Amino acid sequence: MKIVNDSTCSWINDLTSRTNIKSLESNEDSEWLIIGAGYTGLSAARKLAQLYPDQKIIIIDAQLAGEGASSRNSGYLVDTTLNDGFTSNKDLDNYKKKTEIYNLGINVVKKFINDYQVDCDWNDCGKYFASSKKEDEKILRNFSDTLKKLGFEHNLLSNHELSKRLGTNFYNVALHTKGGVLLHPGKLVRAMIDVLPKNVCLYENSSLLSWGKTKDIISCEFKNGKINTKKIIFATNGFLKSLGIKSNYNFPITLTASMTRPLTENEFKAIGQPKEWGVLPVRPMGATIRMTKDKRILVRNTAEVHNPFKMSKFDLQKRSINQKIGIKKRFPQLPEDIIQSSWSGVVSRTRNSSQIFEKIDKNIFAAGCYNGSGIGVGTLFGEQIAIKASEENTEEIQTIEARNKPTWLPPQPFLNLGVKTRLIYERLRARSEI
Ligand SMILES: Cc1cc2nc3c(=O)[nH]c(=O)nc-3n(C[C@H](O)[C@H](O)[C@H](O)COP(=O)(O)OP(=O)(O)OC[C@H]3O[C@@H](n4cnc5c(N)ncnc54)[C@H](O)[C@@H]3O)c2cc1C
Repeated sequence: MKIVNDSTCSWINDLTSRTNIKSLESNEDSEWLIIGAGYTGLSAARKLAQLYPDQKIIIIDAQLAGEGASSRNSGYLVDTTLNDGFTSNKDLDNYKKKTEIYNLGINVVKKFINDYQVDCDWNDCGKYFASSKKEDEKILRNFSDTLKKLGFEHNLLSNHELSKRLGTNFYNVALHTKGGVLLHPGKLVRAMIDVLPKNVCLYENSSLLSWGKTKDIISCEFKNGKINTKKIIFATNGFLKSLGIKSNYNFPITLTASMTRPLTENEFKAIGQPKEWGVLPVRPMGATIRMTKDKRILVRNTAEVHNPFKMSKFDLQKRSINQKIGIKKRFPQLPEDIIQSSWSGVVSRTRNSSQIFEKIDKNIFAAGCYNGSGIGVGTLFGEQIAIKASEENTEEIQTIEARNKPTWLPPQPFLNLGVKTRLIYERLRARSEI
């Protein structure tokens, strides 16, 4: 099936259009083939090119490179997460392993932007986990205990301090972590495309339709050509399942987000001229909301089971209305119609929120399922899966492989039923936070 994306993502529209776009139009052979050109695939390609400067490496994407979730996310490069089921003290050991992976992720992105002098609006201002509900203080105090044990600098804040810092009275309680970065996701992934070395061949608008292995050759069918490769890395994240990769362990979830136009000077003054900030919800289905460097407000308050290949304009508009309400609740003094664009993106989830990083057969590798941490973890997993596919080992691989492995999922229709029920339940619990 063809991936049909909206063309309305503000992060993508901030960038200049690319001109050097090639599609696969004939049959090719290669040493290495990477399917999917987001953070994961592009980082794998960059690493392979360093390791094998004389080998042919092909990376191919169904749409324009980087224009999937890697350009469509909220831009939080996280050091800690609250809503992934690993925050109780009982699971401290798991949580620690998770944050070790996040930390490696932050370092690898930092190294990338330093090595290539990338401007992606990097701001290490930390992030807030915030709620309008006073009773959520209990959740935040438990979280604070966990963070204390692991040595993460943070502090709890109440309404007065929050309204000064965020320019909204909406939140009554929050935990601010010092670690964590806000960035422009589109600029970051664009830089990863721009620096691809010469021995990497990038094909776009070329969807993998089917694949199979005969003896030691993996054959991949596309609409206008076929690629025979010795080794393959699947980096399609939300589309791993549709390609039959670890299908009993991951499933796609569609998210939608909206962004306002930049606030005018007067509008910005009316909300107290706050510095750039990012809020994540305390309750899983609450809104992620961000004030960008250039005074735009981003809101993401949906996560649902939806056809990952397409969201109609009508469906997107419905979700955009919900996001307008989210902004209005927090900033009643701002005009009604300041949303400039709305878009959707697809991510991949596992049952226990653990990531996929593995050899799934001889010469066949896959990495994905990062929940809300794909900027750092996707970049890390991309580089490290390339090293693993080269039969090498690193300390990073050992840290990654010490994590909990994804657990088995029930088959359809039970899976969708279970996920939908859980999402409805979480949405009800978070209804005041949307
Ligand atoms: C609205 C939203 C908000 C998010 N917020 C955050 C956040 O704040 N912080 C964070 O860290 N993460 C966030 N995420 C998640 C993050 O964007 C992903 O984890 C990350 O982009 C994963 O990168 P990737 O390269 O593995 O996958 P993707 O970026 O999804 O790239 C996979 C690529 O595979 C291609 N593909 C799929 N099928 C095929 C096929 N058959 N043939 C060829 N190519 C194919 C797709 O076109 C796509 O370009 C968010 C995601 C969304 C949608």
